[in-house]
Amino acid sequence: MFVSRPGQGALANLLLPWRCALCAGPAPAGRELCEGCEADLPRVEQACPRCALASAVADVSGLCVRCAAQPPRFHRALAPLAYDYPVDRLLLGLKFGRRAYLARALARQIAVRAREEIERGRLDAPDALVPVPLHPKRLARRGFNQSEEIARFVGKAIGVPVRAGICRRVRHTKMQSQLSDEDRRANVAGAFACSDAPLRPAIIDDVITTGATVDAVAGALAGAGAEYLHVWAVARA
Ligand SMILES: [Zn+2]
Ligand SMILES: [Zn+2]
Repeated sequence: MFVSRPGQGALANLLLPWRCALCAGPAPAGRELCEGCEADLPRVEQACPRCALASAVADVSGLCVRCAAQPPRFHRALAPLAYDYPVDRLLLGLKFGRRAYLARALARQIAVRAREEIERGRLDAPDALVPVPLHPKRLARRGFNQSEEIARFVGKAIGVPVRAGICRRVRHTKMQSQLSDEDRRANVAGAFACSDAPLRPAIIDDVITTGATVDAVAGALAGAGAEYLHVWAVARA
């Protein structure tokens, strides 16, 4: 389903038109998706402000049932897209298909939503972006950290610095996707260590599934001095 990127170099970009990564139709210069495909991405309009879970049902505080009972260690989450087709395909293409250029199209979704929320006064801008780190072994195998790629584009778009080096994954963990909810929490407990922390960071991840990973990073950042923690992801499962 992916169209190979014609523009592997500056010269190719001048000679070949941009093609949409989803439908292969013409895309605006420098964009990975055409306007139609981008407009059709499944967006989450109403969600729990604390964990970004799409929900029409909320208590008076606007929180989902789960956050009202047991809030996570982060305070505010933003995930503009639903983890449905074609967002799932795009994220898998970025993560496992080495299609790093897709990071920009996905990061743009976060940047647009964050800017909207900040302008409407519903979100305070974070003071730094902290991508969820990969264990060095996994980083070596994959060649890049998809969360860091996304963070760099978001940071550039909204003018917030990226602090990629302050948190490390100190324990090699199993892939979260293979585990149950409860096992996910145990799997990432104590997996992260942060040497320093901005006061109001936004943790950047590709997708929030149960929230266990970002919650563990939030705990490590809070331990290093962060006071208000955002989580920004492309999608929420
Ligand atoms: Zn398209
Ligand atoms: Zn919630």
